[in-house]
Amino acid sequence: MDVTVPARVEKVPTYCYQCVAGPDLLKVIVRDGIAVGVEPNADVAAEHPACGKVCVRAYGLVQKLYNPARIRTPLRRTNPRKGRREDPGWEPISWNEALDLLAGKLRALRSTGLVDAAGYPRLAATFGSGGIAPAYLGTFAAFLAAWGPVDQGIGSGQGVKCYHSEHLYGEFWHRAFTVAADVPRCDFVLSFGYNGDASGGVTGVWRHAEARVRGLRWVQLEPHLSVTGAGATEWVPIRPKTDPAVLFALLHAVLLEHDWRAVCDVVFLERMTSSPYLVGPAGWYLRDPGSGKPLVWDRDRDRAVPFDDPACVRPALDGEYIAAGVEVGADGVRRSLSERVRPAFQLLLEHVRPYTPEWAAEIADVPAATIRSLAAEYLASATVGATIEIDGVTYPHRPVAVLLGKSVCNGWGGYEACWARTTLAALVGALEVPGGILGTAVRLNRPAQNRLDSVRPGPDGFMDQPLNATTREHWQAAPHIRNAYRTLVPLAGNSAWSAALGPAHLPWLFLEDPPEHWPAPTLPDVWLIYRTNPAISNWETGRIERDLERFPFVAAFAYTQDETNWYADLLLPEATDLESVQLYRVGGTKYIEQYWHHAGWALRQPVAASACDTRDLTDVATELAARVGILDGYLEAVNRGAGSTVPLRGEGWDFALAPGSRPAAAEIWDRVCRAATASLSGGRDVRDLEWFRRNGAYFVPFETRNYFLHGTMVAKGLRYELPYQERIKRMGEELAARLHERGITWWDVQLDEYQPLPGWRDFPGIWRGTAAAHGRSAAEFPFWLLTSRSMQYSWGSNVSLPILADVARNVKGHFGLMLNRGAAERLGIAEGDLVEIESPTGRTRGRAILREGVRPDVAVALQQFGHWATPFARELQMPSLNEVASMDLALTDATGSGADLVPVAIRRLDR
Ligand code: SF4
Repeated sequence: MDVTVPARVEKVPTYCYQCVAGPDLLKVIVRDGIAVGVEPNADVAAEHPACGKVCVRAYGLVQKLYNPARIRTPLRRTNPRKGRREDPGWEPISWNEALDLLAGKLRALRSTGLVDAAGYPRLAATFGSGGIAPAYLGTFAAFLAAWGPVDQGIGSGQGVKCYHSEHLYGEFWHRAFTVAADVPRCDFVLSFGYNGDASGGVTGVWRHAEARVRGLRWVQLEPHLSVTGAGATEWVPIRPKTDPAVLFALLHAVLLEHDWRAVCDVVFLERMTSSPYLVGPAGWYLRDPGSGKPLVWDRDRDRAVPFDDPACVRPALDGEYIAAGVEVGADGVRRSLSERVRPAFQLLLEHVRPYTPEWAAEIADVPAATIRSLAAEYLASATVGATIEIDGVTYPHRPVAVLLGKSVCNGWGGYEACWARTTLAALVGALEVPGGILGTAVRLNRPAQNRLDSVRPGPDGFMDQPLNATTREHWQAAPHIRNAYRTLVPLAGNSAWSAALGPAHLPWLFLEDPPEHWPAPTLPDVWLIYRTNPAISNWETGRIERDLERFPFVAAFAYTQDETNWYADLLLPEATDLESVQLYRVGGTKYIEQYWHHAGWALRQPVAASACDTRDLTDVATELAARVGILDGYLEAVNRGAGSTVPLRGEGWDFALAPGSRPAAAEIWDRVCRAATASLSGGRDVRDLEWFRRNGAYFVPFETRNYFLHGTMVAKGLRYELPYQERIKRMGEELAARLHERGITWWDVQLDEYQPLPGWRDFPGIWRGTAAAHGRSAAEFPFWLLTSRSMQYSWGSNVSLPILADVARNVKGHFGLMLNRGAAERLGIAEGDLVEIESPTGRTRGRAILREGVRPDVAVALQQFGHWATPFARELQMPSLNEVASMDLALTDATGSGADLVPVAIRRLDR
């Protein structure tokens, strides 16, 4: 008699952090030891802002686990020649051999010296995926911390592909590494290309849907109709890279076509911004000669007084006054004066005067009447004077937000767009208050867990910011890593994130085009890579491959073969999302739109036996540390919290690892679990790894008031440095002086960005100029090639999963090049035709997808493709912007960023 044994089914809690819109919490269904599915984690529905749900990518995790194309065992390259047509000749080896090989290289490097003759670290490490790698790195960060100098600034697209100006300026202005609308309390959103329904993750999509039901008006200005645009109230098809022009015209309309005293939040401008600060003729704040404090004009006493004089209740915002004081310029040069000065706000009024809606209409192809009507609606929706009570605290309620998308807030024009957006918020007091625009995370400032705690008083009544020094005494003249962020980008600061936020494409660019008066470009002796594929995700992929051929030793933690690890010397099979253990912070506020009412920790854990010979990255880090001879330093780094962000010793608890031990990953994470819960509960609760394995996550409440900087700013008496920015002017002039003292002039164009009040430049013309730079005519390239996000494929690591292709086939725009139907017909291109896309520096091809929702001068290729080595992805035949974008200093802004925007020609290849 057959006996049917019932299947043993478990539901294992874990987290997904495949994109920056997470982490999100889920359960993996495991039947008889085999992972068979994914479902929402209903246990955390009360804590998670999207009720424990996950997006489509998380449903691919099971396929990712059992993908037959995975790297299954360590592989050593046997072909010393590197090239796209050179088979690496992979030879399977044991983990012991692989770690011996890598540790031997690293030991040799330590004995030679940690930095090379040019001053650059001999060891480099690149982790991609837009900042999510730390959720998968285990304790590898502790290994790097124990190692010493490591170049973590060789880019894989970060910097040129992110919200770069928003990251740097946003955090400078209002602790906003990324900016989100307070969607649940917002009534009107002006979105310049913000594609949150593709990039905002399950929480973003959830919030937007709820708000649409409530009646939120969302106006989407972008050159093609994205997924987010398709759900908007209105689409305005703006010309690419002209967003600052429309934003400047909105400022003009608000300030000069309305009575600003009646429509703006004057009290906010007076007390919370630099608007009343008097500015001298040389552009520096007029300061009190004794205290050095910036002066404002007291309208009641008719004289200049320090900005923080409590008796001054009515500082002037406009007008012109004769006042005495000092201007303190770059490098501390002082000049006493007694002459005409104006409040910063008056300078703003004059600055935006030329930017009429008619002027912007010419540039941006957006009717002047539309701009005026958007300005009027913005003002009408701002409800200046209204308040709202949250958790017993009364706040201003300003339910309006301007959002910026990728390619708007990075590259040339990014600073101007971010400044105009944030100034528009400040004008109606919609900055960091309910309903308005809010920061999400901090990355350059610390502490990272609650951005309110990162608000520290700085100079002149503004927040402090850890800028890289530009003074003669303290400027870092010699780049300490190859992207030179401390030397070239004051705003990048020097946090653990700064290396990735510098000009991360410069190391690639300089290898072929070394700049003058600069250390010779060198390659790292050993390059470690994980979850990154710069041969696909960076610009000018052909250049990247040429450079990759020269790297002496590359060790890649590899999921499948891909276009970058094709050039590696050693492949180490990755223990994927469902195969390794790590405790990670969740909750609080975090990009993209994660605003929780709880904060805590979640566990990622192995759900089933691996089909591959993988090792947990924590075990790899421990073993490498031992073999390299830095074990005790590594253990101490783990004890300090490197890799986990929680120290293992605290007040009343000590879970620290003993020197000389070789703890397994489970032991390390058990200690982290206990330290994390003890730390969060003030020592009351201590949960171990077993508890997390069963329960998945541990939370404490996180108050809504933590979303808004406003209360902290008021309590600390601080202002936002807007609209006028003396600090930006100062760092620009000092940086120019430092570079010129060394004969460096190749960064001069970038230095122009440091304007206290930024103005319009012909931003699209900067990209059109690439044609002439390569001996071609701009007229040959009449289309703009753009990218756009796909929820299925953003962050790229899912390109080898058929399940996501199946979903993507149901979303318009995948697997081809989107073109305007009328424009295509004029070129004789029909739906499905193979077309060639040519730029001044390259060619790519794809099948035409014809739509009405694309401007006639625009073509759109989703995401980043062009794979030729990655299994399954290489069959998708998606066109790739990166194959035709050129890597060029002229396309690099002062923050070291660029934008996905290429002038191209398009022609039919066959039918
Ligand atoms: S939104 Fe991102 S983190 Fe959340 S489930 Fe999807 S891929 Fe994972």
